[in-house]
This record gives sequence, structure tokens and C-alpha cells, in this order.
Amino acid sequence: MSTSFKKLGWREMPIGGAIIEPGNSINRPTGDWRVFKPVINQDKCVRCYLCWVFCPEPAIKILDKPYKTASGREWKITFEVDYAFCKGCGICVEECPVKAIDFVEEVK
Ligand code: SF4
Ligand code: SF4
Repeated sequence: MSTSFKKLGWREMPIGGAIIEPGNSINRPTGDWRVFKPVINQDKCVRCYLCWVFCPEPAIKILDKPYKTASGREWKITFEVDYAFCKGCGICVEECPVKAIDFVEEVK
């Protein structure tokens, strides 16, 4: 999945790269920085929100998308990675309490 955004070129950035308005990361996709990418295992995910809390980019999306696990557990929401913004820092992989996020090499 991906989010629509207005990508800024370097000429449109403030001098020194200063952040002069809050909530601007939606205009600065960082997905092309990535070397490794997180992949959420929906069967292992316990919907704890920690990846969403710790992700430094707007890259973890919480969707109203039901999911039934292989063991029959039914969830009303699904956590997905928006790869337009995921910079591959690996924080979500470290913070997931049930190790539901694999970190795999990016293939471009
Ligand atoms: S790897 Fe980093 S940027 Fe990507 S989803 Fe995880 S915490 Fe967010
Ligand atoms: S931290 Fe792990 S278990 Fe929690 S919502 Fe994210 S992927 Fe699911």
C-alpha cells in the first residue's frame, strides 16, 4: 500500500533543512533510503500498536481490515507498512514484543 503525498525537491526545502512546520513528514517520503524492509507476519501480530508508536515515520498504517489467523483468531484491524515512508531503520522490528516483523533485504 502507499499514501498519496506531495514530494518536495531540495530547492523547496527551508535553508539548512530546518523543520518550520509540524506534521510535515507526510510531504517527505523516505522510502528510497531503505536497504532492509520490515514485513509484518499477520498471523503472529497481536495488534499491540507498539510498531505504530515507535516508528519515526508515518509508515505504520492501521487499517479497518479484518484478518483471520491460521489458528482461527479474528482481528478487526490490520497493521501494514507503507513502503513509501518506511526508511528501513528497523525500530519496529526491535520493538515488536512477539517478533512478528521480519527484516528482509530489499530487492529493487
Ligand atoms: S523500519 Fe523504521 S521506518 Fe520502517 S516501519 Fe519500521 S520503524 Fe517505521
Ligand atoms: S508491534 Fe508487532 S505485534 Fe504489535 S502491532 Fe506491530 S507487528 Fe503487531
